[in-house]
Amino acid sequence: IAAGGSTVMEAFRQEFAEVGVDNARVVEKCRLHKVGCRGFCARDVLVDIAIDDQSWTYQYVDEKMVKRLVAEHILDNKPVEQWLVGDDYHTFHDNQEKIILGVLGHIDPESIDEYIGIGGYKAAEKVLATMTPQDTIEEIKRSGLRGRGGAGFPTGLKWSFCAANQADRRYIICNADEGDPGAFMDRSVIEGNPHAVIEGMIIGAYAIGADTGYIYIRAEYPLAVQRLKIALAAAKERGFLGKGICGSSFDLDLKIKLGAGAFVCGEETALIASIEGERGMPRAKPPFPANKGLWGKPTIINNVETLANIPPIINRGAEWFTSIGSEKSKGTKVIALTGKIRNTGLIEIPMGMPLKKIIYDIGGGIEGDRLFKAVQTGGPSGGCIPQQHIDLPVDYEGLKSVGSMMGSGGMVVLDETDCMVNIAKFFLTFTQEESCGKCVPCRIGTKRLLEILTRITEGEGKPSDLDLLQELAEDVRDASLCGLGMSAPNPVLSTLKYFRHEYEAHIFQKK
Ligand code: SF4
Repeated sequence: IAAGGSTVMEAFRQEFAEVGVDNARVVEKCRLHKVGCRGFCARDVLVDIAIDDQSWTYQYVDEKMVKRLVAEHILDNKPVEQWLVGDDYHTFHDNQEKIILGVLGHIDPESIDEYIGIGGYKAAEKVLATMTPQDTIEEIKRSGLRGRGGAGFPTGLKWSFCAANQADRRYIICNADEGDPGAFMDRSVIEGNPHAVIEGMIIGAYAIGADTGYIYIRAEYPLAVQRLKIALAAAKERGFLGKGICGSSFDLDLKIKLGAGAFVCGEETALIASIEGERGMPRAKPPFPANKGLWGKPTIINNVETLANIPPIINRGAEWFTSIGSEKSKGTKVIALTGKIRNTGLIEIPMGMPLKKIIYDIGGGIEGDRLFKAVQTGGPSGGCIPQQHIDLPVDYEGLKSVGSMMGSGGMVVLDETDCMVNIAKFFLTFTQEESCGKCVPCRIGTKRLLEILTRITEGEGKPSDLDLLQELAEDVRDASLCGLGMSAPNPVLSTLKYFRHEYEAHIFQKK
């Protein structure tokens, strides 16, 4: 839509109306079909023209190209060769493994029939008709699925903790409060296939015994919210939500809760406080939400991508899922690939794929053939990984071993022209602004860290600043109350470790 998709769609509609007068029989058979994001953002707007069993994909389409596409390809059956995607479009997709993104960009996200048409809600039906809650939890445990929101905690184990609590009510929450700069994984999944997330929630709610769930999504995602509303209404109408789902005795009500855009509300306890109507501030853990969460009841919070993985695992089995990925990180990871890379977009890789393959085979290399310098993974709380680790396997363990993290899956590529001190300052500015202020190490510590970074980048740095930065960053990491503060110093620590010479260059006025 940002690249002009709606304008192109409208241009096709108008062109059909215009040429339809003389070509009524052809145009009456034409159907305009809106789909979600296919991931290759750098080539938008993409248009497929499908005739019978054959399909052609055009890239960089704008409204001025529509007249010719209709006249030559649709009416005259002659594809416009020079506008078709090239081999690199197929290389981009062929190097990926798509569990979550496979249908995005192919089905209409506003049509429950299209979701059902590709096997949607079969997993929920299977679970409700043939599996006990305990069977369901065991299957997810066996799959090795780990939370895709950042921490990587085993999903089935988390569900089992929640289910084991004696309680009159339990809740399930979908965390769609994606807020990392440069990240758009969850938004795209909801915009492109909202029913997969709803189906994952149905299965999770059944497994833990919840009858109410919330989808906590930021209000800055209006299209995702709109599509969720449409999907929830359709699911309810078809009997996938509400009383006696799929003819079973299981009831589930799902509600949307809009977040006001505070980054810290992605943290589980802050998110819960926000749903309860309190200010979105983290609470001390334990107790963990699985034991004492929303309104004091056992609560499961799963990220969008985690939930979207549930239906395929139920449909295809835990063994299938464990066959993908690396030893301790099973399945795939959706990544928002941005920065100085040719093929920016949304990708999905098997866990453990080498960084180099992501950047060069899928990403197409660095823009303008400049040299790769580093990649920032895990959003503002992640770390910068330098060239020397280009062969690193991208999974939870690999990223952690070099001082970064998976986070929710943001990947910002940096080239030789980027100043790493400025990059650390950019991300720290974000986390400092988003600190909720509840605890001193984060509230004051991030501010002091930012002051030091600012004076270094402005040529006012002192040689002693580097040790001070290191010490203070470690203190903030070790003493903060929640994940935001604990991980906020990561960009500073990782750039100090791998790019200390750039800090020194600023301090000694060489650059
Ligand atoms: Fe708030 Fe930061 Fe403390 Fe988290 S670490 S509670 S965001 S002040």
